[in-house]
Amino acid sequence: MSDDKGYCLWFTGLSGAGKTTITNQLVKELLKRGSKLEVLDGDVVRENLSKGLGFSKEDRDTNIRRIAFVANLLSRNGVPVITAAISPYREIRDEARQMMGDRFIEIYVKASVETCEERDVKGLYAKARSGEIKEFTGVSDPYEEPVDPEITVETEQQSPEESAQQIIGYLEKHGWLKPAVHA
Ligand code: ADP
Repeated sequence: MSDDKGYCLWFTGLSGAGKTTITNQLVKELLKRGSKLEVLDGDVVRENLSKGLGFSKEDRDTNIRRIAFVANLLSRNGVPVITAAISPYREIRDEARQMMGDRFIEIYVKASVETCEERDVKGLYAKARSGEIKEFTGVSDPYEEPVDPEITVETEQQSPEESAQQIIGYLEKHGWLKPAVHA
């Protein structure tokens, strides 16, 4: 029997908090260790699986439920999954948790709205402030912080590399990932 263990690293956090950046770091590290891996990035999912959906509460919930559905299929078959979508609503994240049980590892990618707005990687906060984008999470739409996430990464105090290492440490400690063998 294969000893591959499936799990789901469920990132949640504001736009610009660092979900994609930390995911990219993690992917490098996990692939180096020979891990199988699939990434469901919020922007990529919206271009494909969820094309046509908007940003109303209903559409956001549908989007997140689809991500959870796919993450569950993969992780229960031994494929580790990283999901990197804002996933602003607690209730739907909790649905995903129920579905995946102990395979579900919630990671709060923490940065204040002010920090994300300063970073404004994609220029979206400026557009949200001017009203060009409506229903923007953290500005004109709610973001519900996780209550008891497995991991919180403090991106205002850590580099993306440190955040990725923190997550790797968690996976090793909890038996999801074999510790790296150093020569
Ligand atoms: P998200 O995917 O959450 O929308 P991104 O990863 O696209 O966010 O953008 C985060 C931005 O913040 C990047 O420009 C990144 O370089 C910067 N950044 C600064 N510090 C950190 C950190 N500790 N972790 C992650 N990103 C950081």
